[in-house]
Amino acid sequence: MNKRAYNFNAGPAALPLEVLQRAQAEFVDYKETGMSIMEMSHRGAVYESVHKEAQSRLLGLFGNPSGYKVLFLQGGASTQFAMIPLNLLTEGKTAGYVRTGSWADKALKEAKLAGEAFVAASSEAAGFREVPDLAGLELPENTAYLHLTSNETIEGTAYFTYPDTGNVPLIADMSSDILSRPFDLQSFGMVYAGAQKNLGPSGVTVVIAREELLEQSPKHLPTIFRYDTHYKNDSLYNTPPSFSIYMVNEVLKWIEEQGGLQGIEQLNRKKAGRLYDTIDQSGGFYKGFANPDSRSIMNVTFRLGTEELEKQFIKESEAAGFIGLKGHRSVGGLRASIYNAVPYEAVDALAQFMEEFQRKNG
Ligand SMILES: *Cc1c(COP(=O)(O)O)cnc(C)c1O
Repeated sequence: MNKRAYNFNAGPAALPLEVLQRAQAEFVDYKETGMSIMEMSHRGAVYESVHKEAQSRLLGLFGNPSGYKVLFLQGGASTQFAMIPLNLLTEGKTAGYVRTGSWADKALKEAKLAGEAFVAASSEAAGFREVPDLAGLELPENTAYLHLTSNETIEGTAYFTYPDTGNVPLIADMSSDILSRPFDLQSFGMVYAGAQKNLGPSGVTVVIAREELLEQSPKHLPTIFRYDTHYKNDSLYNTPPSFSIYMVNEVLKWIEEQGGLQGIEQLNRKKAGRLYDTIDQSGGFYKGFANPDSRSIMNVTFRLGTEELEKQFIKESEAAGFIGLKGHRSVGGLRASIYNAVPYEAVDALAQFMEEFQRKNG
């Protein structure tokens, strides 16, 4: 096999090599059925067991809290930006949104199209370099839910503690950090994530929610946009993205093998620490975008002294085999996305490249 690329893509992103190899081994003939999993009916027993296994593994990683259901939906996290308010933001209610950056704002925009929404907290004044402190947040009585983005993929900021919202369901877009570290699922009404960053390939969106949020949707909503449709049909109302769900199940097995969420967190902190140390010890040659307390351990964003130098860094890093380091156009600079599946060796190689680049250009 050719050498694996040093893949720092923001999404779709790196997958564990072991997962790709296992999928390859059973790609043509799944468990001696004479068929690929992709060729099977989603109503058959073989696919159904994969579907159920993925759901139960996912809840298992969170300690199997009672009253939660896993849905496999389509249309990406972007569709959830719309489905959440369409289903949960009913007449006479308002929804609180925490503004942390680009993805949070996209979610807020959809809520405003569907109903009443307000900004519960914002870090705009800080240039979205940090996440707003949510301790002591007061919410109006008619708040349908509070929505936050646990990890802002573009700015490279993250929450490491979550507010107690009492009876108001807390909802989080966890697209870029789900399963990167343990958290108490029971403090959330709902979490959701497009799979293509930390869970598997693109094509499936995972929603984990308290059953009471899924059981009933407003009468006027079209069938396919209703949580109750997918809840009652166990995400088999229409054809699910079966191959993507199969891959998610394989990624979940791999996470179990890494020691579950605790094991993964240790590895992720070691990876992120290697890059942030390189930035902090560069004497200002590299400047981290996020303020230290809010630094993401999934997306490491940084800048250099001039745009000229940043262009040179991107060019030379590409030539050296590092993929996907150009920052998002809205923030500029550089971004290394180091999701669960990015190995420590790739991160260490990048840190060494950064040190060498500084020696030559500092
Ligand atoms: C990538 C991303 C999205 C968008 O996901 P799609 O699956 O492309 O709709 C939403 N939120 C966050 C935090 C993301 O990182």
